[in-house]
Amino acid sequence: MRRAFNFSAGPATLPVPVLERAAAEMLDWHGSGIGVMEMSHRGREFGEIFERCEARLRELLAVPANYKVLFMQGGALAENAILPLNLSRGGVVDHVLTGSWSKKSAKEAARYCDARVAASNELDTAPHHRSLPVPASWRLSPGASYVHLCSNETIDGLEFHEVPDLRALGSDAPLVIDCSSHLASRPIDWSRVAVAYGGAQKNIGPAGLTLVFVREDLLGHALAACPSAFDYSVVAANGSMYNTPPTWAIYVAGLVFDWLAEQGGVEAIERRNIEKAALLYAAIDGSGGFYRNPVDLGCRSRMNVPFFAHDERLHAPFVESAAARGLVQLKGHKSVGGLRASIYNAMPLEGVQALVSHMQEFAASHG
Ligand code: PMP
Repeated sequence: MRRAFNFSAGPATLPVPVLERAAAEMLDWHGSGIGVMEMSHRGREFGEIFERCEARLRELLAVPANYKVLFMQGGALAENAILPLNLSRGGVVDHVLTGSWSKKSAKEAARYCDARVAASNELDTAPHHRSLPVPASWRLSPGASYVHLCSNETIDGLEFHEVPDLRALGSDAPLVIDCSSHLASRPIDWSRVAVAYGGAQKNIGPAGLTLVFVREDLLGHALAACPSAFDYSVVAANGSMYNTPPTWAIYVAGLVFDWLAEQGGVEAIERRNIEKAALLYAAIDGSGGFYRNPVDLGCRSRMNVPFFAHDERLHAPFVESAAARGLVQLKGHKSVGGLRASIYNAMPLEGVQALVSHMQEFAASHG
């Protein structure tokens, strides 16, 4: 077997020890005689797996006691509807538009409430978004039920390195973040974030699990049309077991959290993520114009690094020659083209080093 370095944006690479453990326990979990996929979600065994998973997650992200952690399904795109169904009260909500995913969120919210655009980087040089709108320039609506932003734009490669403090902008609206593509890659400042949500399939585990963190005082205002299985209060009151949760994905997420704790936790992994991203951006910026990344320095994503060769005809041969040496899934998202390397928690430094070597050799042979 030869494991590739997998730069997929998601579903994405998982830590090898996690995959090995899941494989070893596949047929018989801890002497129970059955595998995790085959267990009742209400049984003692899965209860143990679930409790450990949630406790680990709370510990890793220092989730305050007055926040519920919900294990849901439907992905971040479903949350774009579930969120206004639960929290908008049918009134005004504010959206900050910074790229593909935040635009989708606003469009979906508009089906359920008065979704307004508080800020946008739309006027950035097309087709690439280069910067994030400065919080001081946001036009926040008085009395908005919440303000929504995407804290890491996976396609455009833009990241809020610091989550804005709405109170400093004179607003007491709860801040909601779609943190799908950098969840658990760095700490979350809960004093500024009321709700955070994200799909698991980047830093957390297999697709099929969506994590929602919600401050308790926001619960209990779902619109009548909100499906019960998507009503945060119902999900919370039933310990995420109102309906059958994605048990296998939760189990693997728990293994990933154990692995993350062994790596020294979220602060330690953040330092490594900073190091990996710095190495990759330095290779792009230091290529003498052979490669470029269009994003301003202050808002470049540490997780998703889009880059472009000076001649777009080089993208296909780059992807092909990289794959030949075990560096896979480097094609850019179809909406922007080019190349993209996603370097989530589970991507080792050696993977980024191998990519940088390939970029340098490719540039030398196509210069
Ligand atoms: N938001 C962000 C930031 C994402 O990266 C993604 C997936 N790439 C989504 C939303 C959509 O997630 P899902 O496909 O799980 O609904």
